[in-house]
Amino acid sequence: MEASTAAACKLCGNNGGNKVHEVREMMFGTRDKFSYLECGKCHSIQNFTIPDNLAAITQVTIIH
Ligand SMILES: [Zn+2]
Repeated sequence: MEASTAAACKLCGNNGGNKVHEVREMMFGTRDKFSYLECGKCHSIQNFTIPDNLAAITQVTIIH
């Protein structure tokens, strides 16, 4: 049985095999944590949590 994630893809609605990537803001050194959802079906990357600082959303570094 495959574990399902709480979040469904906003684009295609898929909620199976989705991955959550945690990223940290590095550009400004605030190190705020964000989570991004990678859809297991259409492989789109989308915001999973809404950060307080929306301005930092474009300045994140993806950590694998
Ligand atoms: Zn999708």
